[in-house]
Amino acid sequence: MVINEIFYSLQGEGRLAGVPSIFVRLAGCPMRCRWCDTKYAWSPQAGREQSAQEVLTEISRFDTAYIVITGGEPMTCTGLNEFVRALARPGRHITIETAGICHLPGLPCDLMSISPKLSNSTPKDPELAVEHDAKRFNLKALRVLMADYDYQLKFVVDAPQDLDPIAQCLRRLAPVDPYKVCLMPQAASRAEYLEKSQWLAQTCLQTGFSFSPRLQVMLWDNQSGK
Ligand code: SF4
Repeated sequence: MVINEIFYSLQGEGRLAGVPSIFVRLAGCPMRCRWCDTKYAWSPQAGREQSAQEVLTEISRFDTAYIVITGGEPMTCTGLNEFVRALARPGRHITIETAGICHLPGLPCDLMSISPKLSNSTPKDPELAVEHDAKRFNLKALRVLMADYDYQLKFVVDAPQDLDPIAQCLRRLAPVDPYKVCLMPQAASRAEYLEKSQWLAQTCLQTGFSFSPRLQVMLWDNQSGK
């Protein structure tokens, strides 16, 4: 598996926000989202080939049962199932972060953290935009992921007009437990995060969806490896 980085931090988003976790970032993502904060992990070669045993040795330095497999897009990485199986242990909690663009069965995953992409993520480059938009909402894959795993749906909200597409998306995925849906502000900096959080918090109060923080932006201003 090509590993982009391994680091220990607080889970920044979703229902486990604030939990000390080990992040294993896999290399490779075909999506090219406009506001992606991990562009350095897009290339499938953006890292070092490491065996599961090497990764196990590296993560044994950290004192937490929570492991987050992230990317990039882990679900498009060849050998993901075997890799996650090698990391899984009784008492260990594994989250897999994905855009939900494809489905893999049988993963030992305690939380499938799905972030369906809205049109606000479409790249500006016209060629990349066509490819991105063809992939970004895979209804069948999303449905199967939600059926097969405990999940959360995390929507990145850039502007109030994103709420209609989110509602449409949820209608197509229905039934969805509202407890499993959270909205989080799109923000490249702490200042942008704080500004957008104000109106997004009000939106959450009106809609009943949870507000997800992005602690990596709020605490560390989006520095990589944190
Ligand atoms: S799916 Fe995630 S990792 Fe891939 S480009 Fe989009 S935000 Fe970045």
